[in-house]
Amino acid sequence: MVFVDKYAIREMNETIVLEHIVNQGPLSRAAVANNTHLSKASVSEIVRKLTETNLVHEIGIGDSTTSGGRRPIMLELNKHAGVSLSFDIGYNYIATMLTYLDGEIITEQIIEDKINRETLIDKIENVVIDYQQMIPKTSYGIVGITIAIHGVVYDNSIVFTPYYDLAKLNICEVLGNRLGIPIFIENEANLSAIAEQTYSSNYKNLVSISIHSGIGAGIIIDGELYTGERGFSGEIGHKILFPDGKPCPCGNRGCLEQYCSEKSILEFFTEGNQPTETTIAQLKSAYLTKDPKVTELIDRAAKYLAIGINNVTTAFSPGVIFLKSRLTREIPDFLEKINSNLNSFINEDVELRNSTLGDQATLLGASAVSIRNFLRIKSMKIQR
Ligand SMILES: [Zn+2]
Repeated sequence: MVFVDKYAIREMNETIVLEHIVNQGPLSRAAVANNTHLSKASVSEIVRKLTETNLVHEIGIGDSTTSGGRRPIMLELNKHAGVSLSFDIGYNYIATMLTYLDGEIITEQIIEDKINRETLIDKIENVVIDYQQMIPKTSYGIVGITIAIHGVVYDNSIVFTPYYDLAKLNICEVLGNRLGIPIFIENEANLSAIAEQTYSSNYKNLVSISIHSGIGAGIIIDGELYTGERGFSGEIGHKILFPDGKPCPCGNRGCLEQYCSEKSILEFFTEGNQPTETTIAQLKSAYLTKDPKVTELIDRAAKYLAIGINNVTTAFSPGVIFLKSRLTREIPDFLEKINSNLNSFINEDVELRNSTLGDQATLLGASAVSIRNFLRIKSMKIQR
């Protein structure tokens, strides 16, 4: 028999009540009691604490009951009790986003910057200090900072970063000590998957595939992020497409991302020259003029991406796969071309679509991580 002390039960019940208010609010106290199967007295006690600490507030008046009873007071997350700050560290930019506790965006910005291991922590600290000067006044201020890394992250530490050198950089501890704010780091594709789960999708099993310099997948299984034993789960860009193919920074040859990541496609397009910010627009206009070389390039990339996606489906059987890619958004028919290469019956009922959150997915997922940690709730589902 397992003994759970009274304090732990109270904490657990608080979490349950807050989770219901966050995910299903506005709710009356009676509805919370009904939905959670807790007594009205316990719910009232917990709600008193949650309103005293400013996490929940009472709003308006709900519909009157059919029996003509007193109209209940409704409870809702006090989304203005604090703010969350998110970072996305690309290999040549730092993007940031400030949100309220329901993910409502207050402001966002992007700085073009070549990322350097020696200066990154100081740079992040300076950005946080700048934000601290301008954030709206709230009860809790910045409740957490979550940083997206383009590489393998496990248990808040950076394991492997193929396109910049940040492996083992102790961001969480150093910044946490300097700023006194909880700091989290996570793989960017994992954060995009968390964003889709939180803000856009009701599927319990979903995958979000990010196609940038590399190709990574965030995998949600039964409502939880799946990272595997050491964080390598979802590194689908390193599935081998061609044994003995092009060398990859991971140590293998012929990895998927060497053929159909955004970076690789643009490098094929510029014939090995460094792509610039305008290259996608140039690729798009060449595609629209039916340049046969570009058509062939897109057809081939669609075929290879479909192989990667087919492998994801055979491994995880998701209900939906979101693509987070400027190319599939910008190039007409690219998504249809990928779909037309998915011929197996295994893919029949899997929805493949562009992320509706687009470029904001990673930062919104980061915001959800900070907020969930602050509220000490496991799941958050918010209609945007
Ligand atoms: Zn590789």
